This record gives sequence, C-alpha cells and structure tokens, in this order.
Amino acid sequence: MKFNIDDIIHPEDASAIKTLKALPGFDKLAKYMMAKITEEMMHSLNMGSHLRLGPNQYPEIYNMLVDVCATLGISPVPELYLQLDRQLNACTYGDSRMFIVVNSGLLESVTHEEIKAVIAHECGHIVCRHVLYHNLANALVNGSSILLPDIATEAIRLALFRWTRLSELSADRVSALALGSNYHIEELLRRFCGAAMNIPGFTVNKEEYDRQLDDFERIASKSWSKTMQNLAVMSNSHPLTAVRMIELRRWVNTPQFERLVNDLQVDRYCPACGNKLPKDGVSRWCRKCGNPL
Ligand SMILES: [Zn+2]
Ligand SMILES: [Zn+2]
Repeated sequence: MKFNIDDIIHPEDASAIKTLKALPGFDKLAKYMMAKITEEMMHSLNMGSHLRLGPNQYPEIYNMLVDVCATLGISPVPELYLQLDRQLNACTYGDSRMFIVVNSGLLESVTHEEIKAVIAHECGHIVCRHVLYHNLANALVNGSSILLPDIATEAIRLALFRWTRLSELSADRVSALALGSNYHIEELLRRFCGAAMNIPGFTVNKEEYDRQLDDFERIASKSWSKTMQNLAVMSNSHPLTAVRMIELRRWVNTPQFERLVNDLQVDRYCPACGNKLPKDGVSRWCRKCGNPL
C-alpha cells in the first residue's frame, strides 16, 4: 500500500469495528460463516452468473479499475464483473482473492467518471479491509442466518450493520483520494438523491442542493440525537446521502487530504466543476469556474 490506512479511515468506522469485534460471540460467528461460505464458493457462483470484464470485455470500464489500483497500490488487480441488476450499486467480495461486481443499472444511469468513482469506492473497501465483514453482513441479510440462530445475536447484527454503514464513509474518502477530488462522488451522490441522468430537461442546481444540505445539517443537529439518527437508518445499508456528502466535504478540506494527494501524486480536480487543476500548487482559485481552492 502506498499510504498508511489509519490516515484515511473515518474515526466512527474505526470505533464501530472495535465495538463489533469486542461483542461476545462475534469472533465465533465470523469464523463459522467463513467456514460455511467459502471464498471459492462465492467466486464460482459469481463467475457462473455474471459477465467478467477485462481487456477484451468492456475495456473502457475495466481500465478504470486498473488505473485506480495503480494509484492506490492495490495488487493484484481484483476481477471485475457486471451483473444484471437495476439498482445503482456495486459490491466487493473475497478475502485473499477479491472481486468487484458492478450492477448494470449503474452503467446505464451515471457518467463514465462517476462509474470510476464507484470503482474507486469499492477499492476503498479493499484497502480499508472491510470486505470480509461486509460479506458477513450480506450473508446475514440474504438468509444464511437461518443456519445460525444462536450465534448471530440481535446485538451482533445491529453492531455489524451499523459498522457497515460507517465503513462507507471511509470508502468515500479513498474514492476522493484516488480521483483527486470529491467532484464526481458528489455528482454520483446527487443522482442517488434523485437527479437521474435521463430526466428530460432537468439538470440539478448544485447551489440549491447545497442550501438543502445546510438546512439538513441545521435540522438534524437540532432535533435528532445520535441515537435517534442511528435508529432511523437501522435497516439501511448506507448512511443518508446528505451525511456522506457532508462528511466527505469535511475531509477533502483537511491538510491530511492535501498531503495524501501530494504523496500519491494524484492529479487534482476542482471540487466545484471537475476541471483538472495545474500542478503549480500556488493557484488560489479554479481558472475555469473561479471556485476558491
Ligand atoms: Zn460501499
Ligand atoms: Zn472549477
């Protein structure tokens, strides 16, 4: 790896995984599930159902993965599959041999740059070592829990799903790092809110959405306790989109993000318009849109 992962992991992700691992029975559950649902099984099930992308199969998308892996220092490059599913989603599986699955709905609904942001987000789960426990959470959601009535206690399930949501914040950070900006992730997140690419005559007004984010922050901080916020999203696989956006913006404005981008020699892009920024390091604003940097 080309960086220290502790410099990237979101603190709430780090504390949630500690809580999860400390729960009585979690270790036993993890070992039991790993023995039942082996990596080979997941890999062959996937290979038998989905389309493997590569240099001769949709190389435009596959090369994005090669690119992101080179930036982040991921080796070997995981396999990449396309799955027929309308949901705007992607997932990563495996332990020693990783593979990423991207849904067809995503490729139909977002731009190529935003697909790269998704691929970089999935690579984020790999570098943050989230994948094994994500697979565990998926297995519990998909009904394998009937095999484990006594092991997967309610406390473990809740802690596992809570950590899964918080782990998304770290993966978003890695995605911004690999892409040199949060611009395309923000574009993608606004689509998750409803700004689909193919709504006739509609282009999202970003300034107006920013005002909405301010309203959300004000209302959420005033009227919801942390506990209530957790309860409200208890069954969600991801944090609220507004939360992801706000958390990521905070991070990309830290000196730490700046340092990591410089260390990895990633090209920087304007967070407001996506324009590639010159490497002079002295520009105070974007020459295309005037956004202060
Ligand atoms: Zn994710
Ligand atoms: Zn700009």
